[in-house]
Amino acid sequence: MNGIVMQFTVAIDGPAAAGKGTIARAVANEFGFAHLDTGLLYRAVGSKAMMRGRGVILPEVAVKFAQELTEKDLEREDLRSARVAQAASKVAALPEVRAALLAFQKGFAKREGGAVLDGRDIGSVICPGADVKLYVTASDEVRAERRFAELKIKQPDAKLETVMMDLKQRDLRDASRDVAPMCAAADALLLDTTHMTIDAAIEAAIETVNKARQANAN
Ligand code: C5P
Repeated sequence: MNGIVMQFTVAIDGPAAAGKGTIARAVANEFGFAHLDTGLLYRAVGSKAMMRGRGVILPEVAVKFAQELTEKDLEREDLRSARVAQAASKVAALPEVRAALLAFQKGFAKREGGAVLDGRDIGSVICPGADVKLYVTASDEVRAERRFAELKIKQPDAKLETVMMDLKQRDLRDASRDVAPMCAAADALLLDTTHMTIDAAIEAAIETVNKARQANAN
């Protein structure tokens, strides 16, 4: 950082389990940037709305939760389950929910010292002017296997087919919704991690950020 206070935004998008969260954390760590996993915002809203509706998501309840969401809500332990992921994807299709979460994300992206945000619409909607935009992807099979490997540690009876179905269902919903669908921004760098180790993907992301920082400094 050379002791200089600055704004620098890295936008990382992509489908579920492509590796964007791991890459985002590593980039944030390397450059001392703050990191926001924007999926957690939708997971927190989806989880609360599902609990209140006893399994049924009531749109007006989801909107109210989104408007009242605080950073504390993102710390809950139970946000990582497949059930909450599905609820997140459903509330994420509601325009009023997205609108309520917009200002917080935009503010985070502009914080002094640099920020990395990962999600589905960061490069396209939240930070169209980001200094670096990456779209991280991998084949359905590889993504499902990665998610399955994580899951079976906590849940030995987890099934690969169920994980695959969950990912495909969410990807379809996320990519086909009317508001801020999951997509690569036109100027995003595509990082296909299907045949890459996570270390190689992290290295490629760090190199891209380094180049952009040098270009900004000149
Ligand atoms: O990234 P993660 O899998 O935790 O996201 C959960 C869900 O939140 C996604 O399936 C998507 O529906 C929604 N999401 C979104 N926009 C973002 C981040 C996540 O719509 N920027």
